[in-house]
Amino acid sequence: MGNIIKVQKGTKDILPSEIELWQFMEQKALEVFSYAGYSEIRTPIFEATELFARGVGDTTDIVNKEMYTFEKSERSLTLRPENTAGVVRAFIEHGMHRLSAPVKLWYKGPMFRYERPQAGRQRQFHQVGMEMFGIEQPTADAEAIAVAIRYLNMLGLDDLDVEINSLGCSECREIFKNKLKEVIKPYINQLCEDCQNRFEKNPLRLLDCKVESCKEIYAKPEIQNVIQSNFICKDCAKHFDTLKMYLDNLGINYTVNKLLVRGLDYYNRTVFEIKSNNLGSQNAVCGGGRYDSLVRNLGGPDTPAVGFAMGMERLFSLLEEQKNNKLTAYVVSTNIEETIKLIAELRNNGISADFDMTNKKFTKQLEKAAKVANYALILGEDEIANNTISIKDLNTSTQQTINRNELNRFLQNIE
Ligand code: ATP
Ligand code: MG
Repeated sequence: MGNIIKVQKGTKDILPSEIELWQFMEQKALEVFSYAGYSEIRTPIFEATELFARGVGDTTDIVNKEMYTFEKSERSLTLRPENTAGVVRAFIEHGMHRLSAPVKLWYKGPMFRYERPQAGRQRQFHQVGMEMFGIEQPTADAEAIAVAIRYLNMLGLDDLDVEINSLGCSECREIFKNKLKEVIKPYINQLCEDCQNRFEKNPLRLLDCKVESCKEIYAKPEIQNVIQSNFICKDCAKHFDTLKMYLDNLGINYTVNKLLVRGLDYYNRTVFEIKSNNLGSQNAVCGGGRYDSLVRNLGGPDTPAVGFAMGMERLFSLLEEQKNNKLTAYVVSTNIEETIKLIAELRNNGISADFDMTNKKFTKQLEKAAKVANYALILGEDEIANNTISIKDLNTSTQQTINRNELNRFLQNIE
């Protein structure tokens, strides 16, 4: 064999063994978004580089370091690093602002960012997300968060932390930015290179820095005083308070994180992030917020908008972890006639079950049960004599004995 060409660093094949979970994620997205009145939109994988420079913002990591840009016929093109800019371009290009508000769109597909690959971080990865246009009121922000949570719940994910913050509007944020710069300025020479560059262009992003020495500086009392102050104006505060009230009414738990500023330049007012407690350091599964000036910045009419994007590889690893391919029951007994009868009864009742056909010792059967099933159903001599059955929960190792005729009800309830 000659040289073998391998898959590119930061990219992955999605194999037949994994496809079921991907189709599950896609199917649930279609279901959840359709039920909430969203239509799917599919925009091209590459766009004019300028779209992202203007749409994502030229002070962001994405535009500065992470874009796959190439030239064809003297045109600069870029593989989409995210899909909001593309959807907004399509929104404007097809005159969707003339439709009655809200215009609700969702998408799924591959995105490309040149970053250091690690667990939960690839160069070609997939996002599923939504954009809602035309609604200024915090109802839209609340719906975006609620739809995101509903989708995650439908996937079976519920150990989630929701963080929200308000970045204010261009006016009140300007005052905040200046105060922030004022208190950080004395330390400017001690900041990392990225922060030194962001200091003038996008001081809010300083709060997002992951470098320890920068974090220490931003933890200083005089800087924290500014960060924790309620800088947002009356209208922005009202918007944020109403959003919080809606979330309370919906029973959605959240925390306000004043350091949450998000990577993209276009957000105003609400930003949010959803984290899963079951992921390692790359634990953000969803990021989103309001971007009322983006449509105008890209040449369209003034149109308020909210949206979010989720990382599907991160959802995939959560689902994979959660996936439980085990049988419900494994019957452990040395009485083969009773076993066969019980197995037939279980399967007839829709309960997945198996047993040992080779008459192995009790302890061997139990070992096998622990490998392949969630519950061992033990039929020993005592149980058969008393018309009972012992149920061992193989995940917690607890055991109880119940009447034989209660078994089906018991198993139906745990499924
Ligand atoms: P991070 O801080 O993790 O880099 P981000 O702010 O760049 O996130 P967004 O642009 O908001 O992320 O994208 C939304 C979601 O897409 C993230 O929460 C994450 O789940 C996922 N995501 C972002 N970049 C990658 C990547 N390189 N590989 C896999 N998933 C990603
Ligand atoms: Mg990133």
